[in-house]
Parts: sequence; structure tokens; C-alpha cells
Amino acid sequence: MSTEWIQTIAEIRQRLEPFRSSHQVIGLVPTMGSLHAGHECLIRQARREADCLVVSIFVNPLQFGPQEDYTRYPRTPETDLNVCRRLDVDLIFAPEAEELYPTPPLTSVEVTPLSDRLCGPNRPGHFRGVATVVSKLFNIIQPHRAYFGEKDAQQLTIIQRMVFDLNMPVTVVAVPTVREADGLAVSSRNQYLSQGQRDSAPILYRALQAAQQAMADGVVDGKEVQKRALAVLQEDADVKVEYLEVVDPSELQPVERITGPVRVAGAIRIGSTRLIDNLLCD
Ligand code: AMP
Repeated sequence: MSTEWIQTIAEIRQRLEPFRSSHQVIGLVPTMGSLHAGHECLIRQARREADCLVVSIFVNPLQFGPQEDYTRYPRTPETDLNVCRRLDVDLIFAPEAEELYPTPPLTSVEVTPLSDRLCGPNRPGHFRGVATVVSKLFNIIQPHRAYFGEKDAQQLTIIQRMVFDLNMPVTVVAVPTVREADGLAVSSRNQYLSQGQRDSAPILYRALQAAQQAMADGVVDGKEVQKRALAVLQEDADVKVEYLEVVDPSELQPVERITGPVRVAGAIRIGSTRLIDNLLCD
């Protein structure tokens, strides 16, 4: 089957019908397009596990704040189509904003207080926008399996919790973060960085590694682990720290005394570019 580019809800439902009625497994990889090696990893895993593979490409206005990069977010439909063809994707669902939001929605999905932690204070409304659009995509596509990257760990945790709380009949699959050779997590926003900024960017991963190392060395005080990671970030005066926290992986609450797995998560700004990353430490 060749890759089909579909823009309407009616058509994607119609295309999925034969797969559904013959009990085939439908897999969904939700993306905002501008596909890169991170997305490819999700798509490859989904391709192995689904009979019918749908990649959605939608830059969701609901999840961008008024001062954020909605209009300048990279859009590369032709390259995305080629990536999907190469990876044997069956259907691309790429609606226009008017198709998903013919009128401003009065209904939204909010997973509080998970949405208020980590990135929450700096991106008010962001996770409401994410949870709402993912709910809509789940209702439209009705996938059996949906794939999300650990790179966006708070998003992943929120989706997992939403699916659990609302009994959505979908298995959420977490895919490990894909990194550049120097450790920088691959992201569509990396292309905003100048060469000098790109050289600085792996500092976030180094800070997370310093936290991981501290725990490996036996540090059990969450604040001390956080301090060691922050010390790395403070080495570069051009890096602005939004947060760097050691949290419980499912509640996203800061951990005072580390006795089990924790997630170390951070967000920094280099110039006007915001980068996030995290490591799950057992
Ligand atoms: P986005 O297009 O940025 O909304 O990302 C779509 C999906 O790809 C999300 O589930 C992300 O977590 C995932 N993703 C983005 N970058 C990476 C990466 N470097 N490694 C793994 N997954 C990623």
C-alpha cells in the first residue's frame, strides 16, 4: 500500500474502516511534522507493531501560547511525505486547523495537577491543548496503539494518565529519546539555534548526566542532586535555566529523598530557543 495524504476527518475514517472491520491493529504516531530522527524512531517501532500505520501531522494552535512560535514553527509537508513513504506509513492525517477546530472548542481535557508541574508554569494552557488534541485524534483515528517519545516526558505522563482516567481503549507506547552524537535530544526546534548556540546546547544533557552520576555515587538528597545539575548549567552564561527538577516519574512532584526511580527533567533557553530534556534514573 502506498502512503496516502489525507486532510479530512470523513476520509480518514472511511480509509480506516476496512482495517477496523477486519480486526487489524491500527497504530498512530501523533506529530507536528517537520519529521526528524526522533519521529522516525517512533514510526519504525509503530510499523513493526501495527497492521495499519497512521502518522498525524498537525501543528496544533491550541497548545501554543500567544508569545510562542506557532506561526514560525517549521512546516515541511513534502519532506514529511517522503519520510513517511520511506518508512512505509499507510496513512498521513494532516488536517488544516479549520478541519479540527471549525469553531473554537468549548470542551477541553485537562490533566491537573500534572499539567501544572515542570513546564506548566512557563507554558500556561499548553498541556490542555495537547490533551485536547490527542483526545480528538484518538476519537477520530481510534488507534489500538499510540506512540509517544520520552523526550516529552511530561506530555507522555499526562497522556498515560488521561488514557487511564478516561478509560480510553488505546495502549500508549513510550519510545526512548533519540539524541545527536553529542547528546543533544533531536528536536524540530534545534534548527532555530545558531552554530554557537548549537555548540552550547548539549549542556542540558550533560547536566542531566551529572544528576544521574550523583545518584550513582550514592547521593539520595533530591536537592543535592538538583544542585549538581544546576552547577553544570551555570557554567554557560548564555544559558537561562527555566527549571531543573528531580521528580517522581508518575506524579512529577519533586522528590526529597531518593529511594526509587526518579526523572530528572529540565528546560533551558538559549537565546529565544527553548530546549527540554529528561532522563529516567533507576
Ligand atoms: P512533535 O512533532 O515535536 O510534537 O513530536 C511528536 C512525537 O515525537 C512526540 O511524541 C515526541 O515526544 C516525539 N519525539 C520528538 N523528538 C523526539 C526524540 N528526540 N526522541 C524520541 N521521540 C521524540
